[in-house]
This record gives sequence, structure tokens and C-alpha cells, in this order.
Amino acid sequence: MAGVLQQDPDGSTVIACLDPRSGQQVATVPVTPVDQVGAAVARARAAQPDWHGLGLARRKVLVEALRQAFLAAAPRVVSLLAEECGRPGGEAWTSEVVANNDLFAWWLGQIDDLLTADPISLNPVNYPRKGGRVQLEPVGVVGLITPWNLPVAIPLRCLVPALLAGNTVAWKPSEHSPRTGALLHELCRQVLPPGVVELVQGDGAQGQALVTAGVDAVVFTGSVRTGRRVAALCGERLVPCSLELGGKDAAVVLADADLERAVEGIVWAAFGLAGQNCAAVERCFVDAALYERFVDAVVARTRKLRPLLDVGPLITPAQLEIVKAHVAEAVDRGAVVRCGGGAPGPGWYHEPTVLTGVQDDMLVMAEETFGPVLPIVPFDDLEQALARVDGTPYGLTTSIWTRDLALGEALGLGLRCGVVTVNNHAFTGALPMAAWGGPKDTGGGVTSSRFALYHLTRPRTVVLDALGQPHEMWWFPYNEALERLSGGLVELARRGGARLPGARAALSGFIARWKDS
Ligand code: NAD
Repeated sequence: MAGVLQQDPDGSTVIACLDPRSGQQVATVPVTPVDQVGAAVARARAAQPDWHGLGLARRKVLVEALRQAFLAAAPRVVSLLAEECGRPGGEAWTSEVVANNDLFAWWLGQIDDLLTADPISLNPVNYPRKGGRVQLEPVGVVGLITPWNLPVAIPLRCLVPALLAGNTVAWKPSEHSPRTGALLHELCRQVLPPGVVELVQGDGAQGQALVTAGVDAVVFTGSVRTGRRVAALCGERLVPCSLELGGKDAAVVLADADLERAVEGIVWAAFGLAGQNCAAVERCFVDAALYERFVDAVVARTRKLRPLLDVGPLITPAQLEIVKAHVAEAVDRGAVVRCGGGAPGPGWYHEPTVLTGVQDDMLVMAEETFGPVLPIVPFDDLEQALARVDGTPYGLTTSIWTRDLALGEALGLGLRCGVVTVNNHAFTGALPMAAWGGPKDTGGGVTSSRFALYHLTRPRTVVLDALGQPHEMWWFPYNEALERLSGGLVELARRGGARLPGARAALSGFIARWKDS
């Protein structure tokens, strides 16, 4: 849906919601005035101590209730995704419902272990009668800002672990998916205490207000351009932030690949979500030995994709213009459209398009297209092809297609990206136990897996000292015995050090030191 902010006759601002399959307005959603964003964060802050104080067992019960509410609402979610994002039903069910049930189940099953404190076990000679632990505590209020392309899965990937860890969340969905945001928030309000999840509706103005409203951490998913702004605002305030940004994923098809699987998998990964997936295959490098057969098979498979049933529309007219501009520039510079290439509608639908004869400096190879366009490039030299894979500012995921799994893995591990798959692409974004994210302009944030808790918790060290003596070994006064003890310990630890004299010095220093104290 294209969400266009406009003034209502009563002077309030609303998002006019347009169905991308028709371009028709289907609803309006009230925008949160910028000057009320702080109040939403304040409500989340007020709710946080009690939410944390409920304890993990009770929070799990309530998050399980949220899961049940979500599953009961699944048909509404799917039909809203069709109206709001033009999402085909099969795609909505798999990526936004079934995958999210798995996400709830994994976090609910793992969270006790993941939040268990690490004991601090101390050497009783150096640190007598002391012990402690490192425990994970909620950061407080998480400011969550999300895009429209997976408007349920992306927020849930943060909401579920953030809530289980004891945080409250102030969440701004995209202005292009506000109704899905409102539905998810309604479910939260049905089962969670007031203030635990606060909703802010609007565009960049509200997003900026949220980042600067005193939240304790920001979890942002979106474009590189916006991510840089969010990071700068967070940097000024020393607010920790997690950034999940764009991608320009490549698939590399080796000569021994299973041709049918590679074709099916890459067509799905390029044209699923109409290419509006951070991990869509946007560049495909194919061994020259297989190239012609591969291109013919991809074109034949792509021609069978059904508009709106398999491949939905672009989300906005602006996104459609970007896709058209990328294709037009490539064609102007000599690329060949092997199939597709047009935007005949309905709505903002663009045909799935296969291009050959492309150059690395064309927009379609260098910048994130975020649309249903697949450029295919032959290679003779695998090493050079892999260098080209790494030659973009992005680093999200890469797939290698080969029957030799060990070779595929080794090649993938040589690349600078956050996810490597052999004979598959992108699907690990839906796996709650698999870390998601990547280096370089992809932002370095981590979603899913225990590593996601790094952004949502703070480790706190607690040490209890029952020694009851007036002095510790390393306290004042600094004297010769302390230096003898330290020097002896160093000799003992050194390879080839004077171990026996070291042991003697350490022991005599140790005894003298305790006598001093
Ligand atoms: P976007 O950057 O335009 O918007 C993302 C969110 O940021 C929206 O909610 C928007 O309202 C908000 N926003 C805009 N300006 C802001 C500002 N100045 N301060 C704070 N918030 C602001 O991105 P988009 O078009 O919604 O999403 C598409 C992008 O997201 C693509 O680049 C895609 O690759 C990326 N993405 C990445 C991942 C990932 O996991 N790495 C997943 C999905 C999408």
C-alpha cells in the first residue's frame, strides 16, 4: 500500500491507504502527532518496571497468549497483507503466519536458558570467598522502527524477544503498512498490560521523534539512507542501536549445480515478495558452461509466474518508478530483456524481468532495486566472479549452487556477508534460531538467535564478597612483596620462563603480602 500522509477536513493528519493492486484508496489511519510521541514512550517507560517485575514465567504466559491471539487472527492478517502490500495468499501464509508461529515457539522454548545468568567462578587463592554472576537485564524501553516489506514478521522478530526479556516497546510501523501495524498492536493490547507495547503511526517525522524521545535502545530495519540518519541521531545521544539495512544479494551457480533446483530456487528468491525482500537475489553469476541453459530455463520458468497470484505489485508508485528506471538504464546501455520488462498493471504491478548483457556499474547491478528484476551474468573465472559478488557496499546474504556442498561452503565462507546458503537462498531470515544481518552497509545489526538479545538486554555483573578481612592482596600499600608475587606469577605463566624460581618468588611474595595486610 502506498501510504500518503494527508490532512483530514478536521485538521488532523491521516495516512491515506492505497491498495497497490488497484491504486484505489481503501482506508485511512490516524497519524500520531509528533508532539505526542514522547507521551507514548513515557507510557512504555511507566509500564516497564511492572512488566519486568512480573517475572519471566508470567511474561511467557502472556506472550503465549499473544501468540494464540495472533494465530486466531491469521486470516485477517493474510487478507490485510493482500490489501495493504498486494501479497499473494500463499506467500502471506508462509512468510507472515507459519514462520511467526515458529518464531514464538522458539523464543518461548529457549528464553529460560538464554536469560540464565553466567556464574562468575573465582580462583579461591587470588579471590577468596567471592562469587557472583553476570545476568541479562532488559534495556528498558525499546524504540522499534520497521519497514513495510514484511510488516508482521520484522516487528515480531524484535517484539517477542524484547518482551520476554522484560522490555516494553514503542513501535512505529511503516507509513506503507499502518493497518497491519494497527492490527498487531490491537492483539498486543488485548492480552498484554497497558503500555507494554505502544504504537506510533506516521512517517519519518514520527520515526525521528521516536528515536529522540528518550528510548533506551533503537532497533531499526529499513534502507541504508534512513539507517544512517537513525544511527547519527542515536550516536549523538549515545543510544545503542541495531541496524538491519539493505542488500544486493548474489547467487553463484557453479557448473555442477542441479539445474532444475537452481532455476526454481533462484526464480523464487528473485521474484518472491515481488523482489521487495532485503535478501532477494538481485544478481546471479553463472558458470559459462551452464549459462545458456540456465538463462533459457529461468526465462521459461519466469514466464509461468502468474500476476498477483505468484508475484504481487510494487508497494508504491515511487518504488515502481525506481524499478522502471533501473531496467531502462540497463537497456539504454545495452542490456537485453529476456522476459518481462513492462509495468502493465494492475496497480503498481511490474512484470518479473530477466536481464542479460548487464555491466557491474549499471544501476541494476550496483544499487538495491527492490523489485522483480533478475540480471544474469556468465563467468569463466570463479575467483573473479566471487570478487564481483563482494564488490557492492552491501553484505546481507549470498548463495552458492553446487552439488559439492563442501566446496560451496568453503566458497561462501570466503565472502563478506552475514548469511551463506548452499543450494538455497533467503529462507533463513524466517528461522528464529539463525542470526540474521550482515556487515558493511547492511548495518551490522543482528536479528534472531541468541545474538539478538545483545541489542535487547544489558549484561549486569553482580559479585558478593564474604571475605570479611580488612585488606585484599592488590589493595594499598604497593610494596616489594606485591611486586615479587606478581613477577613470580608472570614467570610461572611464561613459556620457557624460570618456572621454579617463579613459583618460589610467587609463594614467598604471597606469604609476605598476607603477613603485611
Ligand atoms: P525506509 O528506510 O524508507 O523506512 C523504514 C522505516 O523508517 C519506516 O518506518 C519509516 O517511516 C522510518 N523512517 C523514515 N525516515 C526516518 C527517520 N528520519 N528517522 C527515523 N525513522 C524514519 O525503508 P523501507 O522502504 O520501509 O524498507 C525497505 C528497505 O528496508 C530496503 O532497503 C530493505 O533492504 C530494507 N530491509 C532490510 C531488512 C534486513 O533484515 N536487513 C529487512 C527488510 C527490509
